[in-house]
Amino acid sequence: MPLNYKPSGICDFHVHIGEKINGYELRDDFPDLEKIAQETGIAGIGAFVTEEAGLSLTAKLKKMQEKARLNYNGKVHWHLTPIHTKTEELFPLLQEGWDLKLYTTYKESGLYSSYEQIEHWMEELSDIKTRILVHCEDDRIITQSSAEHPFHTPLDHTLRRPELAEIVAVEKVLNLAIKHSHPIHIVHISSPKAAILVKEAKSEYPLITCETAPHYLIYNENQLIGENAHRWLCTPPFRSEESRGLLVELMQDGYFDIIASDHCPFKLEDKDRFKDNLPLLPCGIPGLGTIYSSMFKNFVEPKIISQAYLDEMTIYKPKNLMSCFKRYKYEKSFQE
Ligand SMILES: [Zn+2]
Repeated sequence: MPLNYKPSGICDFHVHIGEKINGYELRDDFPDLEKIAQETGIAGIGAFVTEEAGLSLTAKLKKMQEKARLNYNGKVHWHLTPIHTKTEELFPLLQEGWDLKLYTTYKESGLYSSYEQIEHWMEELSDIKTRILVHCEDDRIITQSSAEHPFHTPLDHTLRRPELAEIVAVEKVLNLAIKHSHPIHIVHISSPKAAILVKEAKSEYPLITCETAPHYLIYNENQLIGENAHRWLCTPPFRSEESRGLLVELMQDGYFDIIASDHCPFKLEDKDRFKDNLPLLPCGIPGLGTIYSSMFKNFVEPKIISQAYLDEMTIYKPKNLMSCFKRYKYEKSFQE
């Protein structure tokens, strides 16, 4: 349901747009973003650039920056995922203030980084302290759980990618951030225990932030039962009602720095094509245009959180995350 006023200045820190993921072209590109932004008040996004075969990360970033410049009037902050790119090539890009995005899972698509590799990045980037966004799901646990639970129905996704995988990976990555005093941001937290670990880690090292997405606060795993349940498959999966409820309580208590959509709009035909072959189905759901209105309807209207607090999590804090690192680095280089 649309809001009867248009909020302005929404910053969505986690948006997949205008690229191919795992061989699937995403539904939305920058002209679509502009349209959605005009309708819903999105002033800025954090967009992902994932290295592809045959195109260097530098060249792909330039290409996407050009598309954004020509088609979108808002601000874009870039999160870069290298696959083969070495630090020397990345350095000039990272000096512009962009983030790295690493994954502790997805071996089959080449995105996977081991904890040792993540630690190595922290060591290599110890001077410029590039913020690292991490998709935390422990790959060993996922491999084991997936072997135990074949993917017959959409609900099996919850057993194949259990909360424990997220909790274990979050704990390991937080320990690395503390050990190396390295800024990190944990994306799309879906498990209450993981959010609690982040909060505890922040008291040891302050440049740790995290997000959750509206869909983990609004939906539970029952969404994965029934007619078109496969269209709701995203990673991490929706959790139990108990976990969803706890996640909402943690949000009320300030455990999440920001709310971001993890907008990952695969085309419906790509989702439907693999309805009966779930291991091949691309996991991701749209959420860009509804980030504010869905949170407003589900949590502000029933007085679970205040509108000022929603504004904090969807406008002011993400805006700050999109700009503070650049400033920090420029100040640092001025001092040197
Ligand atoms: Zn994502």
